[in-house]
Amino acid sequence: MIQVASYCRVSTDKEDQANSFEAQQRFFESYIAQNPDWELYAIYADEGTSGTSTKKRVQFNRMISDAHAGKFQLILTKEVSRFSRNIVDTLSYTRELKAIGVAVEFLTDHINSMDSDGELRLSIMAAMAQEESRKTSNRVVWGQTRQMEKGVVFGRSMLGYDVKDGKLTIEPEGAEIVRLIFRKYALEQVGTTEIARFLTREGYRTYRGSAKWKSGAIIKILKNEKYVGDLVQKKTYTPDYLTHEKKANKGQVPQIRIENHHDPIITREIWNLAQERLERNNKRGDGEAGHSNRYVFSGKIKCGQCGSSFVGRMKVLKDGTKVRRWSCGTTVSEGTAGCDVGKLVRDDDAMEMLKTALRSFSLDEGAIIRNVTTLALEAIQAGESGAADAPERLQFELDRLQQKKEAVMDSFFAGDISKEDMLAMKGRYEAQEATLRERLEQAEKRLRQGCGRDQLKEAIQEEVAALLNGETESEVLSKTLLKDLTVFKDRHMELRLNHLPHVFRFAG
Ligand SMILES: [Zn+2]
Repeated sequence: MIQVASYCRVSTDKEDQANSFEAQQRFFESYIAQNPDWELYAIYADEGTSGTSTKKRVQFNRMISDAHAGKFQLILTKEVSRFSRNIVDTLSYTRELKAIGVAVEFLTDHINSMDSDGELRLSIMAAMAQEESRKTSNRVVWGQTRQMEKGVVFGRSMLGYDVKDGKLTIEPEGAEIVRLIFRKYALEQVGTTEIARFLTREGYRTYRGSAKWKSGAIIKILKNEKYVGDLVQKKTYTPDYLTHEKKANKGQVPQIRIENHHDPIITREIWNLAQERLERNNKRGDGEAGHSNRYVFSGKIKCGQCGSSFVGRMKVLKDGTKVRRWSCGTTVSEGTAGCDVGKLVRDDDAMEMLKTALRSFSLDEGAIIRNVTTLALEAIQAGESGAADAPERLQFELDRLQQKKEAVMDSFFAGDISKEDMLAMKGRYEAQEATLRERLEQAEKRLRQGCGRDQLKEAIQEEVAALLNGETESEVLSKTLLKDLTVFKDRHMELRLNHLPHVFRFAG
C-alpha cells in the first residue's frame, strides 16, 4: 500500500463553497479511493486560496516534516500555483521531497515530480503559474471538482472522443476515422505514411481540421490506449531527469491502468494486432515516423564565405535513402566562380548538430526555463491582429513554392531554362515565400493564443519533453530554437541558438 497525503488551500468564505475544506476532502477521498494501492494518510489544508497568499502555512510545514518522517510516499495536490508561494519554493520543495522518495503529483497540471520531465515541466508551469497569479487572470477554478469526482479523465478532446467535464464520450465521425486507421494498419498491413496519404487523398480531416495527414499523427493515434477503452497514467519514471535515465515504473510511482474505463472505439483484438505491428516496426526501425527537416533549416544555414543562404536539394543516396543536401546559394546559381565555400551539409547531419547543441542546452536547466517560458509567455501575451490565415493552408502553399523552386533549379541544371530565367523565377518565389512565412508565423501565434492556456501549456510541455528525451521531432520548436548554422571554407560549422550566447562549433 502506498500512503498518500493531499495538500490543499481552503477558503472559509461561505460564497466560495468550491474551495471549502469539505469539497476538497470529498474530492481527494474519492480520487484516492479509485486506486486500490493507495491509502489516504492525511489531508493537509491551509487557509487562503491563492498561492501567493502571505498567510502562515502551518499545515504545509507539518506535511514536509511528516514526509521526512517517512509517513507517506505521495502528495496529491491540485495546481502548481497553489502549492507554494513561488517557483523557487515549489522547485526546492519538490526536489527535497524527491530526494527522500516522496512524489508530488499536481493533478490539474498533469505533473508528477518523479516523471522524467517532471521537474522541467514543473519549472515551466511554476513560472507560468506565478506569472498568472501576478496578472490575477481568470483561471479555471476548483469549481469543476464535482464533475471530476465522477471519473477523472485528464487531457483534451481528441479524434473520436470528446472530453467534457472529465468524461470521454464517443464522437461518431472521428471514431469512424479511428476505426479506419486501425483497420488499415492492423488488418490490411498498410504503413502509416501510406495511411496518411490515403486519408489526405480521400479528404478526411484531422482533429484540428487540417486536410493534410502526417504519419506521426497516425502513429500517435495507434498508440493511444484510450481508443481501446483504457486509461493509463504514469508509465515511466526517472529519479532524476538530468541523467535522462528512464526506468519502467514498477511501483515506485503509482501507476494507474484502468481497463474498460470508458466506451472503446476499437476492439481489443485489433488493438493488440496494431501494438504488435508497431513494436515490430519499431525494432526494425523502418523510419515510418520520419519527418521533414526541410523547414527547420530553410533559410537558417548560412555561408561563412559569401553570406548567402544555403539552398536544399533532394539527393537519393546509393542505398536508396533520401537526404536533403544544402549548399551555398551563390555556388548553386553561379558555380564556384561565385563562391568557393565548397561544403555540402546533409539535413540529417544538420539535425544531429542541432540535437547535440540542444542536449547540452537542456542540461542548463536555468536556460531552458528562461527561454521556454519567455517563448510561451510571448505567445500568450502577443496581441491579436491580422486576418485569420490557417497555418496548414499557408504551410501547404510554402510547400508548393519550395517544390516550384526545386523544379526551376532542376530545369536549369537540365539545361532547359537560362540562368537569367532561373534567377528571375527563383527571386519571385523567394519573395512570395518570405511573405508567406511572415503570415504563417502570425497565424501560429494566433493559434496558440486561441487554443487556450491549458492547451498551450500542454503543447509546450510535450515539445520540451521531446527535446529533453533527445527526440526533437518538433519542427516548430527546433525552428524556434535554432538561430543559424554557419558553414566556413575550412569546413567547420558554427551553430547558434536563439536567446543563448553560446556558439557550438562542429568540425566538418
Ligand atoms: Zn557562399
